[in-house]
Amino acid sequence: MIRLELSQLVAYYILFFVIIFLGGWVFACRRKKRDAAYRKEFKFWQCSVCAFVYSSMFDESMTVCPQCGSYNKKEGET
Ligand SMILES: [Zn+2]
Repeated sequence: MIRLELSQLVAYYILFFVIIFLGGWVFACRRKKRDAAYRKEFKFWQCSVCAFVYSSMFDESMTVCPQCGSYNKKEGET
């Protein structure tokens, strides 16, 4: 049987939760970085007619909505 003192048990208990917390933090940071790279690579568009959100890899000034077929211009252009 493993013999532990109460102070060692408390220390291992705290260490366990610190490791879990740091692992989760690192995982969340990696995920955030990956999502930012994804958003940078893809341009997201929202259709002005049906509000459908779709993505395009190319930096186009006008796209066609895959849902309703209407044309959408980049914001800021007339
Ligand atoms: Zn649409």
